[in-house]
Amino acid sequence: MLDIAFTGTGDAAQIPVWGCGCTACVRAKNITTFKRKPAGLSITSPKGVTLIDAGRNDLADCFSVEQISRIILTHFHMDHVQGLFHLRWSEHGRKIPVYRPDDPIGCDDLYKHPGIFEFQKPFRELDTIVWDDFALTALPLNHSKPTLGYLLEYGGNRLAYICDTAGLPVVTKDFLKNKRIDYLILDCAEPPSSKIMYNHNDLNSALEIIQQLAPTKTWLTHISHRFEHWLLHNPNTLPDNIQIAQDGMRIQLIPSRTYGCL
Ligand SMILES: [Zn+2]
Ligand SMILES: [Zn+2]
Ligand SMILES: [Zn+2]
Repeated sequence: MLDIAFTGTGDAAQIPVWGCGCTACVRAKNITTFKRKPAGLSITSPKGVTLIDAGRNDLADCFSVEQISRIILTHFHMDHVQGLFHLRWSEHGRKIPVYRPDDPIGCDDLYKHPGIFEFQKPFRELDTIVWDDFALTALPLNHSKPTLGYLLEYGGNRLAYICDTAGLPVVTKDFLKNKRIDYLILDCAEPPSSKIMYNHNDLNSALEIIQQLAPTKTWLTHISHRFEHWLLHNPNTLPDNIQIAQDGMRIQLIPSRTYGCL
């Protein structure tokens, strides 16, 4: 079984946004379960924990060095990598492989001073890597920095993690359509908008992707306080098979295409 947990479901500002008095931020200040940290996942198998992105600054409180098998980065924006900046100075002595998109700049001095992290050769478009516990395929996305989504395949389940994108490049859309994915975790940072989206999906563009890929179940993530505020004032607008992810929510993948949501 694979246990997938949302380590965060927020955008770079997180929720509550510092100093904001909107309904969504006030609710999150009062009820901590509505807080949203930077978007990311942990994937736990009997072999260990794989992190997708490391935007939380408290990862050391959540995982031991020994637990982490590898870290997979979607891209080098600060809200996805800032947690690495102090973890790299661990004196444990163990090296942790970090997989990444082809971004020659990276973020600040991470490449120059990687500490315990070993940056692997960048993924090329549609590269697949197979470990003992599952397989991942790298999917190009539309974002302001080189960015990858990932298709996770495990025991007949296909789950795509598509964060930080506005729409989908044709190569990714066609690949995922052919694969017939079961589950989708999708960027939906903004409420429905009439503006052209360049870096993130609004609800309209997210719904269009869901219609094209036709997964049985979708979780929306990278939620901004603007979208959360909109959701509070427009309840019950999403169909049952589209859910707003929450921090700490877990999806368990069981071989042969079943899942449980905790
Ligand atoms: Zn982001
Ligand atoms: Zn707010
Ligand atoms: Zn980003």
